Amino acid sequence: MASKIFFALSLLALGSVVTSRSIPGADSATDATKRANDVKVLILGGGIAGVIAARTLHEQGIDDFMLVEAQDQLGGRLKSITFGAPGKEVVLELGANWIQGTQDGDGPPNPILTLAQKHGLHTVYNDWDDIKTYDHTGAVDYLDVFNQSVDAYTDLTVSAGARVAKKLVDGTARTGYSLGGAKSRTAHAAASEYYQFDWSTPEESSWIASSWGNNFTYNTFGDDNLMSIDQRGFKEYIQAEADDFLDPSQLALNALVQNISYSNSGVSVVLADGETLTADYALCTFSLGVLQHDDVRFVPELPQWKEEAIQSMTMATYSKIFLQFPKKFWADNEARMALYADTERGRYPVWQSLDHAKFFLGSGIFFVTVTGDFSQRIEALSDTEVQAEVMGVVRNMFPDVDVPEPLAFHYNRWFSDPLFRGSYSNWPSSFFSEHHENLRATVDDRLWFAGEATSQKFFGFMHGAYYEGLEVATSMAKCIKGGGCVTLNHVEDVTNAHPYWI
Ligand SMILES: Cc1cc2nc3c(=O)[nH]c(=O)nc-3n(C[C@H](O)[C@H](O)[C@H](O)COP(=O)(O)OP(=O)(O)OC[C@H]3O[C@@H](n4cnc5c(N)ncnc54)[C@H](O)[C@@H]3O)c2cc1C
Repeated sequence: MASKIFFALSLLALGSVVTSRSIPGADSATDATKRANDVKVLILGGGIAGVIAARTLHEQGIDDFMLVEAQDQLGGRLKSITFGAPGKEVVLELGANWIQGTQDGDGPPNPILTLAQKHGLHTVYNDWDDIKTYDHTGAVDYLDVFNQSVDAYTDLTVSAGARVAKKLVDGTARTGYSLGGAKSRTAHAAASEYYQFDWSTPEESSWIASSWGNNFTYNTFGDDNLMSIDQRGFKEYIQAEADDFLDPSQLALNALVQNISYSNSGVSVVLADGETLTADYALCTFSLGVLQHDDVRFVPELPQWKEEAIQSMTMATYSKIFLQFPKKFWADNEARMALYADTERGRYPVWQSLDHAKFFLGSGIFFVTVTGDFSQRIEALSDTEVQAEVMGVVRNMFPDVDVPEPLAFHYNRWFSDPLFRGSYSNWPSSFFSEHHENLRATVDDRLWFAGEATSQKFFGFMHGAYYEGLEVATSMAKCIKGGGCVTLNHVEDVTNAHPYWI
């Protein structure tokens, strides 16, 4: 299957708790007086990009930096939770959960795999092709339709490659599917297509960029996906990595950035507690969604070319809805994935059992993923309303079972969260390569940007965030150390190759 669908785990629960790893000596807003308020570099955001940028500066001999993070721990979109009824709790992932693409033969390893191995993360192979199909009447075998959707997705990526070779314009993935003759007119076909593609919808995604996004990752690192089931939480790999080089005095946790003022002579950052931090340079690693929602104020306002780039890419939302039942009532066979075809496309379609010998045997946990507008829809509903809808679907899938109410239920609201505003970036067909260059470009030589969204090859993925933290901080270090400073340039106007006639 299109191995790009992100599955992670969220939960709901009878008293679910976000798990937190203590960072000895890490600074907090209540302990602000210890901070060095003037440093060479402020790294804003302590997700993967921020931590790897900090490590890169350290390796380059630059230790006069401060890593500023609003949460009480590092990791960003690596977020774990303890889920389940008393005595049946399991640590699950609300955010990223899979290392997507590991290593292809002697090729380069995915850098996230390298970190996971270095820090002894417990990961398991996740076979997304091991699937059983359902619709509103129960278990129905439409694997033939499902297999056609696998072929249609391959055709889509091949036709996208051909367009690049011929320099043809981009379109939406929906256009690509339709031109390839894949029109997905039945509920079974729509659900099968969803399973292949809908980490963001075909209507909202570039035909070309969605194909290269998939190909760069899986052609570079191979087809395997490893799922973290580590009970310290997946974030352990980045927190342990930070512990290896970060001095507690270089870290400000619980530090919510409100304003970023910049000029060609430096930056100053105002935190929610009123404290001001100053630096020669700042590296902003906040998510694209945060930048789009004006959650942080830039002074002066960002230039038009930067704002156009920010508003032209899109932030997708992906939600995992976790249910825990007293015991497993679904088939105890090898099929760990389940596809549900509702009459409404995208209504609670992709299911995964975690009650399996490879994952958490005996846990009674089943979870479903939804994306895009449907994710935003459920964020606006109450947990009770969503639970009622989800249980209606479970009862459709298992008409012969007397399905009990779950012991625990949970999903995370990524889109509503002002620290994220969605799950990962998506490249729409109206987003040009120059826009992407501008998303990444430096403003006034002092304000730099990095994060998964600024990765041209690996946007959306953890390894995209990793490489951007590494590459952008390497460029910054060259500037700071003098000799060969090249800031990341922008294009003033992104123009149309063939303007419309007016
Ligand atoms: C549900 C979900 C599932 C996913 N599944 C996968 C997967 O399986 N595999 C995969 O490769 N990728 C997956 N991803 C994507 C992956 O998590 C991201 O690409 C990656 O973690 C992004 O890292 P980052 O450092 O760029 O950004 P972030 O992790 O967003 O880091 C930015 C940091 O900035 C902080 N911040 C924001 N605003 C402020 C402020 N005002 N002041 C101070 N700090 C602030 C945030 O708290 C955050 O810690 C998933 C994401 C989600 C949400």
